[in-house]
Amino acid sequence: MSDTGGGHRASANAIEDALDALYPGKFECDIVDIYTEYGPFFPINSYPSMYKIMAKYSFLWESFYNFGETDFGLWLNEVLLDTFCFEPFKECLNRPSGSTNKRADMVVSVHPLCQGTPLKILANLDSGGKTCDFSARDTPFVTVVTDLGGAHITWFNKNVDKCFVPSDVLNKKAASRGLKEDQIVQYGLPIRRGFWSKVENTSQSSSKPSGLFEILNRKGEQAVSHLSDRENVRQHLGLETDLSTVLVVGGGDGMGGIVGIAEALATALGNYSDVVSYQMVVVCGSNEEAKQTLSGKEYGAGVKVSVEGYVNNMDEWMKAADALVTKAGPGTIAEASICGLPCMLFAYLPGQEEGNVPYVESNGFGKYSRDPDVIAETVSSWLASPEKMKSMQQAAQTASRPSATLDIADDIAQIAFATRQH
Ligand code: UDP
Repeated sequence: MSDTGGGHRASANAIEDALDALYPGKFECDIVDIYTEYGPFFPINSYPSMYKIMAKYSFLWESFYNFGETDFGLWLNEVLLDTFCFEPFKECLNRPSGSTNKRADMVVSVHPLCQGTPLKILANLDSGGKTCDFSARDTPFVTVVTDLGGAHITWFNKNVDKCFVPSDVLNKKAASRGLKEDQIVQYGLPIRRGFWSKVENTSQSSSKPSGLFEILNRKGEQAVSHLSDRENVRQHLGLETDLSTVLVVGGGDGMGGIVGIAEALATALGNYSDVVSYQMVVVCGSNEEAKQTLSGKEYGAGVKVSVEGYVNNMDEWMKAADALVTKAGPGTIAEASICGLPCMLFAYLPGQEEGNVPYVESNGFGKYSRDPDVIAETVSSWLASPEKMKSMQQAAQTASRPSATLDIADDIAQIAFATRQH
């Protein structure tokens, strides 16, 4: 993977965690930002910082993303990576992993730019350096797509053993890139452990969650948070227990114009009433500037606002909230749907996040607007209508795939076990 955005490492960590939970002591995972650690020179070794800049100026990102999906862009990317990254990436894939003195038994990619060249390198290593023909590879290689309603073409390489996709749209996109039905597996997005808790209640959403949960239970694992009840969670987080609660998030980096949206929303909610009726929590992620700008400000009498920086307990903040106002990040949306949180989307990154807007809207658990007044009106109208809230909460949970991480990890484990027996 590479740390372009927070989602790739988060997914990798979640899969590692799930392997540990299901098969303790059986796997050692070596999670590598291959571009930063092994990229031969600028700009290849600086993708994460370049991504941060481009994500800020979305027209830049849009042009880059769209160019990368053209035939010429795909060809150029392949030629550049094969020419300049083959040898350095080979060093990475050949390095001793974990406590063994051998290279990895299996490779899992959770990044759109980690398919073609790594697959050729594995074929080369498996054939003793004789060829780069894909068919010579016998080290298993799977891709786990970490986008949701849209994804770049480079995610889909028909030479992988399995490609795990989270949604119907990406299932179709994988098929349209030539992957066969038996290569495509659809469970959901891998997300961190704190969100695995509702697996037991949604067994219809997956082929085998209850089985996996039995394994966890047999091992005495506490997969369900001890703070399941919303009021307890609020108390634990220092929030009022009886106020309608709106959570505002801009992804791991606090992007999408979070300051402007939070201020306008707080002002609108604050003016709705003379007595405190709402509380709003703004999670700024790693955006320190946003945290400083928003902290300590007073809004109208109707709202109480608290501001957080990067939080490590997003599952608790989501469990405490009635509604979420967020940038259309795939991780945040998948987590919110597990928590049954209606989502008001206020921004998306062109390209891969664009499809997350119809994903949320067509699944019936949210809306999109850039206009802070529309956002405030929409969210407060949801909160004022128990029926509307109930139907959106149900829609969110129906779309959710809380067992996805365990399902993906279990499939990966089975592939690894089968290969070792061989
Ligand atoms: N997140 C977090 N703490 C924060 C802000 C965000 O743990 O303070 C997590 C959030 O729960 C989600 C991820 O960061 O898992 C953000 O991923 P998403 O795909 O929504 O957006 P990205 O940051 O990749 O643009």
